[in-house]
Amino acid sequence: MIELALGCARAIFTDRHGGTSVAPYDSMNLAGHVGDDPAAVEENSRLLARRLGLVDPSLWVRPMHVHGTDILEVTASSGPVEADGSVTTVPGLPLVALGADCAPIALANDDAVGAVHAGWRGALGGVVETGVAALRRLGTGPVRAAIGPCICVRHYEFGTDALAPLVARFGARAAGRTDDGAPAFDLPFALRRALEDAGVDEITDTRCCTAESADYFSYRRDHRTGRQAVIVVKVPVSSRR
Ligand SMILES: [Zn+2]
Repeated sequence: MIELALGCARAIFTDRHGGTSVAPYDSMNLAGHVGDDPAAVEENSRLLARRLGLVDPSLWVRPMHVHGTDILEVTASSGPVEADGSVTTVPGLPLVALGADCAPIALANDDAVGAVHAGWRGALGGVVETGVAALRRLGTGPVRAAIGPCICVRHYEFGTDALAPLVARFGARAAGRTDDGAPAFDLPFALRRALEDAGVDEITDTRCCTAESADYFSYRRDHRTGRQAVIVVKVPVSSRR
């Protein structure tokens, strides 16, 4: 698990360790839509809530990701809604974005926090820029972002046809090669580029490759597998260091 202080936020990037799910979801799977036992997913969430001192998972904001660009502005958990991210100004309200090769991204400025799910489709559609704009509508101050564990270019083979629109949007450097020399998409590069284009002031990259590290779920590597998450929480002013 990686925890970062980001503007007014606490950003926690989970990995696959410390949960109760059995193979192939072992063990800290946080996704209910991938075939895992729903009771195990809820128990995993409760374990995390206890370890991290967060409110009960029934109160977390956990939209269902559809590789789109909708970002919810929330003041409370809203039940099962399709979206690829959320933003809030409510202290202590955990926002969750999932991934297993796609990147979970944390956003924060002085007043608001956000969590975004971004893979190639969302990045191309503009989910990063939409997330940053939603954050700016809710608060002021420098925007900080952290890119969570996601698949790196060396493991993300892509057809040249599929790469063309990504190169058109993010530039030639978005196309690279895998370890085997096949054409590949550089998702972390594209996400950084999208964050820069959106005027984000400070970008942190956790630089963990999900396909490479057994500490993370990877859809490309394992197909049937779980999801890790970023959990972003606004820290109450009184408890900031
Ligand atoms: Zn990799």
